Amino acid sequence: MKKAPLHIIKIGGAVLENAEKRAAFLASFAQLEGNKLLVHGGGRQATDLGEKMGLETRMIEGRRITDDQYIDVVTMVYGGLINKQLVAHLQALGCNALGLTGADGSVITSLKRSIRNGIDYGWVGDPQTVNVELITDLLTFNLTPVFAPLTHDGAGHLLNTNADTIASTLAIALSARFDVQLVYAFELDGVLTDIQQPDSLIHKINPASYEKLKAQGKVTDGMIPKLDNAFTAIAQGVSSVKIVKYTHIGQLHSVDFQHYTHISE
Ligand code: ADP
Repeated sequence: MKKAPLHIIKIGGAVLENAEKRAAFLASFAQLEGNKLLVHGGGRQATDLGEKMGLETRMIEGRRITDDQYIDVVTMVYGGLINKQLVAHLQALGCNALGLTGADGSVITSLKRSIRNGIDYGWVGDPQTVNVELITDLLTFNLTPVFAPLTHDGAGHLLNTNADTIASTLAIALSARFDVQLVYAFELDGVLTDIQQPDSLIHKINPASYEKLKAQGKVTDGMIPKLDNAFTAIAQGVSSVKIVKYTHIGQLHSVDFQHYTHISE
């Protein structure tokens, strides 16, 4: 039987921090027809609240060390403020959004990351299971799940979890039921050969060209884990993975729309 299409959209922190960009993204997302769900990041806003509370922010290679105090901060900011603001905004656009952390309905469980190379990331989790049944039911009720980048360990702890990883994990698990289109939306046009040049968009990237771009120092920072997640998803049965500008979500259905980076095996 042909599987129903499902769009999984991940939106990055930089877009969400800017009210105008956030509104433009949500307008574009609301236009997307059919089954869809949203995964959002957080980032800067958690750091801002932590600093107001007098906490010290510690990051290693862009990843937050989430100690006992910071897990409370990210729960408040990601699971509370950002998630509920997005849900309210989508409701105003006629999209019946439902906000979730991984603990709600146990939609995503994860394993607390063990100390690696002497680095203790604290309350950080790597996803283990996805409640495909429940997410399928929510979609059947025409709800649009909105996932905060938080999961739980089944033993009462919330865990800070990378939003790009949540998106690829959901995409892989839901591919059992749906024809999943995974989309990483962010502020640039896609993967660029020169991030200062918007016209340097790479239309298609595969593992071999990715290795070259990395070696040449053309793909760096947050784009590396994003592409790693993208290739994992495509290798594990996700129908399509794209890296797209945040304003272009609503156009993804048009056949002649080519303004994104397509991930291929
Ligand atoms: P998000 O906005 O999804 O949270 P990240 O900050 O994790 O995204 O990753 C996106 C960032 O990766 C971009 O803002 C850009 O600065 C950086 N980047 C590095 N190399 C590239 C590249 N070749 N093309 C596009 N972006 C790149």
